[in-house]
Amino acid sequence: MERKNIVDPNYPYTYRRTLCAIKRLVCRYRGLLRIGETGSSEQGRNIPLLILGTGKRKLFLLGSIHGREYVTTGYLLRCAEEYAHSAQCPKGYGGFDLQKLLLEYSFYILPLCNPDSVEIALGRALPEHRDEAFCAYTYKNNGRNVNLNANFPFEWQAVPKERQGGDFAASERETRFIMSLCEKHSFEAALSFHTRGGCVFWRDSVNGLVPYDREMAESISRGCNLKLCPETKEKKDCAGGFENWFRYRYNRPSLCVELVSDETAPFDLACREFERYTDWERTRLIPLVSAKAL
Ligand SMILES: [Zn+2]
Repeated sequence: MERKNIVDPNYPYTYRRTLCAIKRLVCRYRGLLRIGETGSSEQGRNIPLLILGTGKRKLFLLGSIHGREYVTTGYLLRCAEEYAHSAQCPKGYGGFDLQKLLLEYSFYILPLCNPDSVEIALGRALPEHRDEAFCAYTYKNNGRNVNLNANFPFEWQAVPKERQGGDFAASERETRFIMSLCEKHSFEAALSFHTRGGCVFWRDSVNGLVPYDREMAESISRGCNLKLCPETKEKKDCAGGFENWFRYRYNRPSLCVELVSDETAPFDLACREFERYTDWERTRLIPLVSAKAL
């Protein structure tokens, strides 16, 4: 008999719901899924790391670095569940042999990088500082109103004030936790999931070419129906960004994946109609296609 899925991405993954899903997944897929080190947010919430697979080659996957894009948490949890399930049955998954792949690779998944932001975007918490334009629904910064994706120590001085990159580089706990994982685990590549555009940002002109960046980006574009973005030219647009910092620090590929092609899709609708807005049938393979491109 088919067992009922644990992950249902059609409802928003709040902080509590995420912790609960991770616990249940690890329990069901013992040996394949485990919990790694846990970080802490500025408002004191845990940032759980989920590790899938037993392989030596490590890939880093991040979701919800911007709170309003919480659909990416559901996306990563669902990937974890389907991959783990598939590794236990001989059927294959979109042409991939997960049993074999998860012996070679491990996916280090941070489904909820910015838990405070997700809680705020869902109307369940408030940030420490609110400007006049505060709107929970479109909120993307952390609990201290800093945009984590502009807080990394890469050309940080060039971050324009309106991008809200914080008082200094790596000023935020969430940023420092993500950096510490990268330092510790020597990931071969990183994928940070966002929602708007149905495209992949894969190169910036400050870092220039990074080995395998084009191979990874083109494989995802071909295999998962996402557009390739042009190289990010302006320093102000890539300064402080996670993926840009990763390229700079490790000279390895790091992509920003915008999962939802309809840029006007409301954040809650993209979640309620998950399969349609994320084009799940194609995008479910992104981490697998990326691993194969390396
Ligand atoms: Zn974003």
